[in-house]
Amino acid sequence: MPEDLSALQTGIDACRICIERPAKLPLPHEPRPVAWLSSSARLCIAGQAPGLRVHKSGLPFDDASGNRLREWMGIDCDQFYDREKLAIVPMGFCFPGYDAKGSDLPPRRECRAVWHDDVFAAMPQIELIIVIGQYAQKYHLGSRMARNMTETARDWRTHLHSNEHRVVLPIPHPSWRNTAWLKRNPWFQNEVVPVLQAQVQRLML
Ligand code: SF4
Repeated sequence: MPEDLSALQTGIDACRICIERPAKLPLPHEPRPVAWLSSSARLCIAGQAPGLRVHKSGLPFDDASGNRLREWMGIDCDQFYDREKLAIVPMGFCFPGYDAKGSDLPPRRECRAVWHDDVFAAMPQIELIIVIGQYAQKYHLGSRMARNMTETARDWRTHLHSNEHRVVLPIPHPSWRNTAWLKRNPWFQNEVVPVLQAQVQRLML
């Protein structure tokens, strides 16, 4: 790994900003950043933030969402966890904790403020970013977002076939919470999943 990327990975692994200099309330537990930078991967997954299970294991997408995501991508765990081929950069690197209703809090804003611009600038070889969920959509698409997550995902052709050096493919979160959404939006499974698998084949296998 080149020095700048390696320094970034080391800095992220040791990051304690959300304890020592939080924007608002501090992280309610010790940080355990989960972000996999890569100098060779051409594909990157940009998700939301680790859940409790991933916080405990330290392995990104080590849960039911990860299983569904791998199914969509058409790859197994060995292929998914090949850091030479796949970078994983969520919008929050640490598990943010729960809100009063027991749902995961949004990704910590400190992460985006401190790390993301440098991380993506240090991985110029990334050609495609699979963007999962509204927070990642906001960062990676900005004003190109449609009025909601569904419409942005539905506009996948525009994003994937743009002329930019680095393109994005917005997809819904693979969480079980989106099972009803997937039933209501069969175009995702029928149109987007085959395209996603073709891109994974092209860039990773
Ligand atoms: S969430 Fe991001 S900024 Fe906050 S401690 Fe973890 S790595 Fe650092």
